[in-house]
Amino acid sequence: IVVSVTSDSNKDSCNKDEEVCSQKHNKYSKEANEVSSKIKESINLAAQQYVPCKSANCSCHKSVIDQDLAPFATGITKELFNTARAKATKYQIINGKLYREKECHFPARCAGVEHYLTALASKMPNLEIALNTRDWPQVNQAWGHPKAPVFSFSKTKDYYDIMYPAWSFWEGGPAISLYPTGIGRWDIHRISITESSEKWPWGEKENKGFFRGSRTSEERDALILLSRSEPDLVDAQYTKNQAWKSDLDTLYAPAASEVSFEDHCKYKYLFNYRGVAASFRFKHLFLCKSLVFHVGDQWLEFFYPSLKPWVHYIPISTKATQEEIKDLIIFFKNNDAIAKEIADRGYQHIWEHLTDKDVKCYWRKLLKKYVKLVKYNVVKDNDLRLIS
Ligand code: UDP
Repeated sequence: IVVSVTSDSNKDSCNKDEEVCSQKHNKYSKEANEVSSKIKESINLAAQQYVPCKSANCSCHKSVIDQDLAPFATGITKELFNTARAKATKYQIINGKLYREKECHFPARCAGVEHYLTALASKMPNLEIALNTRDWPQVNQAWGHPKAPVFSFSKTKDYYDIMYPAWSFWEGGPAISLYPTGIGRWDIHRISITESSEKWPWGEKENKGFFRGSRTSEERDALILLSRSEPDLVDAQYTKNQAWKSDLDTLYAPAASEVSFEDHCKYKYLFNYRGVAASFRFKHLFLCKSLVFHVGDQWLEFFYPSLKPWVHYIPISTKATQEEIKDLIIFFKNNDAIAKEIADRGYQHIWEHLTDKDVKCYWRKLLKKYVKLVKYNVVKDNDLRLIS
């Protein structure tokens, strides 16, 4: 949706000629009204179609497991597993104990995953999985990769990868100055960000768009540039990450200081973008009870499909221009009650359906369904080392 709203500059250009002025105003207010109606229509339609997920366990996310496993409905053979294993780290659960191959490319990421797998191991039948700890998924149908059951934290619909809850729910997320050992402990962040949201109730938040992060995707540039031209409307700045090489990586401006998730709660409109794959920030933003603007709909984590556009967040196209982003923010500034309602619903959904218990529950259901598709006997691999 392209939103167009009368701006101050339009009013200024209307000082000289009363007739031109009035025609212009009519044109802009007509456009603004049409666009405003379209947005309201999208919101109403989405709200009508939305069936809230009442479940107390992780069944709000169940359809994702079904979809991810659908390509393997005819069964997972040893050959399929071996293809997957070549692209990932091998784990086994044998007689209630967890084993992993000796090398893990990202030890903190493996540790984040193992926190959940060790907790589940004693309740699981014997199984083995190929778990990818890289940022990006591995098996792309569109590129003609042969089908293989690789577990990855994020993907687009072009991939066969099976989504699992990212390591960073517990540990191994990106290390930034504020989180030097890496982003993790979602259970603790849930509490601390919610507490911060109470210090920044809706009425006291700044009426501004906000983003802080590095240039892991150029899709973020439009908002950064808008912030430079309209600093009263948006505060969006690039920070440095470990890959920073030159000013280009901060779009020719000095790197900004990093801002904690808790301090994001000061702003009404929080922006989420993909990075290399999905960005870990998405779930945290909702906890501020601010309105989340989610740019792009391709990159997913397992819980994304349970969140609905216009119901829990505002969808924005990756191709949105600065002007279009500006107009969307202005629309919600002018429709504050609607903005708050969506922000509250987004918070409630994440608070109720993305608990640490849901993460464990998702892992359990995923593994149990996966095991049912396996067509070969899983034999203990003595090259693996005991984790639990
Ligand atoms: N981050 C943060 N404050 C900052 C910059 C980054 O909390 O000032 C978090 C951000 O929310 C994300 C992680 O650090 O979860 C890495 O952010 P970045 O933008 O560098 O990369 P992304 O993972 O989003 O591609």
